[in-house]
This record gives sequence, structure tokens and C-alpha cells, in this order.
Amino acid sequence: MRVLSVLGRPGAGKGTQVKYLQEKTGFVVINTGQMLRERSRANDFLGRKLKEILEKGLLVPTPVVFSLWMPLLEKTREEGVAQGVIFDGNPRKFYEARMLQEVFDMYGWQDFRSCYIRITEEEARERLLERGRDDDTTEEIESRLTWFKTDVEPVLEHYRKQNLLIEVDGSRSITDVHNSIMEELKDFLSA
Ligand code: ADP
Repeated sequence: MRVLSVLGRPGAGKGTQVKYLQEKTGFVVINTGQMLRERSRANDFLGRKLKEILEKGLLVPTPVVFSLWMPLLEKTREEGVAQGVIFDGNPRKFYEARMLQEVFDMYGWQDFRSCYIRITEEEARERLLERGRDDDTTEEIESRLTWFKTDVEPVLEHYRKQNLLIEVDGSRSITDVHNSIMEELKDFLSA
């Protein structure tokens, strides 16, 4: 099993690129944001809490995201059909990266890479205001840019030190970014 984590500031094009990668690889995609938005529709304590957190653009507590990931990872492992898993925009904290590593060790999944799609804060702001999704208001965007710095950058640093990080310039066209990712991940994807 191969595991790919696609990281980048909000608006970097993670979702866009993950979609292309999924088409090419057939890997199972874990879209945590979407899972959380779905869970937030339930009118129970966790549902209401998640709604509030998502509206503010804050990070969801790690145990909650693992409670969503684990059944999906377990199902993927059990079925044994897909050749890999793609985490769209996760892990978001250093200790989430460590905890995920424990999960992969347990499963014997040793083939891991992270792909960082790099754009500046300015580009992120511009693209998100254009996209105009419900949670893309100025305040939410700023809070997401803040935790990218405080929480996700240490994750990138961690993977970089372990030589697990590939980086692509996300300011180019969707096709150019895609081609760079395919080139950088050539060995990983064909292994
Ligand atoms: P993320 O998942 O990283 O938040 P998305 O894939 O949702 O990013 O893309 C955010 C916005 O930027 C979307 O409106 C998308 O169409 C646009 N976008 C994605 N990639 C590019 C690109 N390479 N150049 C210009 N706009 C892009």
C-alpha cells in the first residue's frame, strides 16, 4: 500500500490535483473536510461543535479526525483493492503525522510520500475569494492561513527532514502543476 499526503495552503489546488491523481491511480481519497462537513450536519453535540469550528476555519480536535479516518483506512485495508490512499490536506499537526505513522506501521504500509503544493499567502487569499465556498470568508481564510503556519509547516519540516517531501510550485496552471507532481512522484507511483 502506498500513502500520499497532499499539503498546501487553502486554495493551493489540493482538491483539484487530488482529483487528477485519483483518476490516474485509483487510490482511495480521504477528504477530511468533506467528511467533517457531513458529520457537522447531525444535530447532536459533536455535529454542532463541528459546525462552529468549521465556520470559524479552526482546526478540529485530532481524536475526532482519527475517529473518521480509522474506519475508512480499515475498510480500505480489509478490501485490499486499492493500491494506495491519498490524504487531501492532511495531516495538519505534527503529532497527527506521528500518529498516522503508527497506524501505517501497524498495517505494514511503508511507502509514504507527502506532496507540498506551494503558493504564497497572497495567492491563497486571491483564489479563495474567487472560489467563494461557504467557509471562504475573510475571517476564516485568515485563521486557516494562521494555522497553516503554526501547525502544518512543522509537518512539512518533519517530512522534509525524513526525505519524504516533494515540492511543486502551485502558482502555475493546473496542467503544469499536475505534470510536475507526476514527474516528482514517478518512482513512488510506479513502484
Ligand atoms: P484546496 O483544495 O487546496 O483548497 P482547490 O483545489 O479547491 O484548493 O482550489 C482552490 C481554487 O483555486 C479553486 O477555485 C480552483 O479552481 C483554483 N485553482 C486550483 N488550482 C489552480 C491553478 N493551478 N491555477 C489557478 N487556479 C487554480
